[in-house]
Amino acid sequence: MSRRDTADGKPVKSNLSSTRMAMLLAVGIFIVALSISSLFARSLQEQNSIDHRIRLTQEAATLQSYANSATEGYGRLILSAAALLAVQPDTSAEDWRRFYASSQAEANFSKIVGLGYVGVTTDDSPDASNERAVIKYLTPNSEENIRAIGFDMYSEPTRRSTMIEARDTGRLAMTPPVQLVQDHGVRDVKGELIYYPVYRTDTTPKTVEERRRSLQGYVYVVFRPNDMMKRFVEEQLDIPDVIMCVRDVTNPNGPIDLYRSGDTEKADASETETLQFAGRTWQFEVSGIDSYARRLGPVVLFLLGAIVSLGIASTIYRVFAGRIRRIATVYEDEVQRTKDELLALTSHQLRTPASGVKQYIGILTSGIVGELTPDQKTIAEKAYDANERQLQIINELLYVSKADAGQLVLEPNRFNMTRLVQQRVDDFAEQASQKDVTIKYETKKPYYVTADDRYVAMAVENLISNAIKYSYQSSTVKISLSSDRDQLKLKVRDRGVGVSDEDSERIFEKFSRVDNPLSHTEGGSGLGLFLARQLARAHGGDITVEGKLDKGSMFTLSLPKRLTINEAIVRLNKPKEES
Ligand code: ADP
Repeated sequence: MSRRDTADGKPVKSNLSSTRMAMLLAVGIFIVALSISSLFARSLQEQNSIDHRIRLTQEAATLQSYANSATEGYGRLILSAAALLAVQPDTSAEDWRRFYASSQAEANFSKIVGLGYVGVTTDDSPDASNERAVIKYLTPNSEENIRAIGFDMYSEPTRRSTMIEARDTGRLAMTPPVQLVQDHGVRDVKGELIYYPVYRTDTTPKTVEERRRSLQGYVYVVFRPNDMMKRFVEEQLDIPDVIMCVRDVTNPNGPIDLYRSGDTEKADASETETLQFAGRTWQFEVSGIDSYARRLGPVVLFLLGAIVSLGIASTIYRVFAGRIRRIATVYEDEVQRTKDELLALTSHQLRTPASGVKQYIGILTSGIVGELTPDQKTIAEKAYDANERQLQIINELLYVSKADAGQLVLEPNRFNMTRLVQQRVDDFAEQASQKDVTIKYETKKPYYVTADDRYVAMAVENLISNAIKYSYQSSTVKISLSSDRDQLKLKVRDRGVGVSDEDSERIFEKFSRVDNPLSHTEGGSGLGLFLARQLARAHGGDITVEGKLDKGSMFTLSLPKRLTINEAIVRLNKPKEES
C-alpha cells in the first residue's frame, strides 16, 4: 500500500513540505542568479559609461589637434610671408599674390579667407593716435577681399589692441571673434585675425620702444573659425549623438562660441580639451548622449539573466521536488509497511487472549462455577460488553491488515439482501433498545444480489451500528432497500448528530474519528467506515453520506447487482473508478 494513497492525510502533508523545500531552494537560487545578473548588468552599465567618456575625450582631443594644426599652419604662412617682406622690402602686390599662390594656401591651410599685409603709417604723436594701419595687400583677389583693401585696421579697437600686442611682443597675436570687413552687411558670422609685426630692422628689436619705433606693418591671416571647424567636423568627424562646441575662453567676461554643432542640453556627459595659440585660449567641448543601444545593453542583459535564472530555478524546482517526493515516498512506504506489519502482528496477538476473556466471562455468567449474586452478574455483563467492543475493534484491525496483505479475497454468491439486512437489524435490536432507538425496516420485497455476503454483511453492520451509536436518545433509524437497473441501494437514515459537509469525506479515512457530541461516550476505532467503503468499492459499489450537523445523516450503500470487478482480491484505497 502506498503511503501516497493512504487516507490519514499525512502523505499529502509530506508532499507539501517536500514541494515547499524544493520551492524554497528554487526561490533561493532564483534570487542568487538574479543578483548575479543584476551585478553583471550594473558593471556593464558602468563599463559603457566609461567607454562613452573615453570616446568623448578622444573626440575632444581630435578636435583640439585639428584646430592646433590649422592655427599653426596659419602661423607658419604668416612667418613665411614676413620673411618674404624682410628679404624683399619692395614686395609688390603681384609678388604677394604669387607668394600666396605658391604656398597653395587654400589647399594647405584650412578655410583661410585671406593673407594680407597692413602698412602702418606713423606720425610723431606720443600716443600714436594718428597712426593708421591700412590694408595694402590681401590675397586671394576675391570679391570680399577686394572690399577690405584700404580698410584702416587701427580704426577698430579690437583689431588695434591685438595689433599693438603683436607689435610690442614681436609675436603672433590673435583677435577675439570680430565682424570681418569682408562680411560686413553680408553675413553675420565672426572671423578672427592673426597678426605678426614686420619691423624695418633685420631682426626683431629688443625693447618695446624700439619695436614701436621701427614698426613697418603687419602680416596677417584672416579666417572664420566657424567655417574652419564646421568643415572638419562635417567631413572628418561625422559622429551621431555627439555635440561639438568650440569656445574662445580667453576673455574673463565669459566664453565666446566659435562653433557649435548642436544643442548640448540633452547630453549626459561631456569632456573638454584646451588649446593656446597666439595669446588666446580655445576650449573644445564634446558632449554626448549615451546611445539607446548602449543603455539597452544592461537592460537586455538583466532581462536575459532574469529569464535564465527563472529557467534554472524552475528546473531545480522540478528536479528537486520530484526527487524529494520520491525519497519521501520511499521513506513513507517503508514506515507504512512497518506500521502494517505491527498492525497485523498486534491484532493477531490480541485476538486470542480477548477471545479467552469472552469464554471465561461466559463460564461465569452460565453458572457452571456457581450462581452469581445480582451485583456480580451486572459486573460480569459489563465486562462481557466491553470485551465485545474490544473484539470488534480487533476484528476490524485484522480485516484491515488482511486487506493490506492482499489476503481478503471476495467469494461472490447470490443471496437475498432483504433477508441479510433483516438479520442484522435483529442483531442490533438489543443495542437499539438500550438507547430507546426504534429501527424501522419495512422492506419486504426480496432483492437478490451477487456479492460476497460476509463482507456485505460487515458493511451493513457498520452502517446500522453507527446509526444507533450516533442517534440521539429515543429517535428513529429508518432503513430501506431499493434498486434501479444496475444497482441495489441500502439507505440508513438516522436523527442523530449528523455529519458536516467538510467531514463527509474525512469520516471514510483510516482511523478518522470525527469529534461530535456522542463520539466520547460511544467507543470506536475509526476503522469501521473505512473498511466498509473499501469492501463496497471492492465490489464495484460505494458508500456515501448526506446529512446536516445535528439533524441526522443518511448513509447509502450501493452495490452492483452483478459483480463487475475482475479481480477478487480486496485492495484497500483503490480509487472508485479503478475498482
Ligand atoms: P467509529 O468506530 O469511530 O464509529 P467509523 O469509521 O465507523 O468509526 O466512523 C468514523 C466517524 O464517522 C465516527 O467517529 C463518527 O464521527 C462519524 N460517523 C459514522 N457514522 C455516523 C453517523 N451515522 N452519524 C454521524 N456521524 C457518524
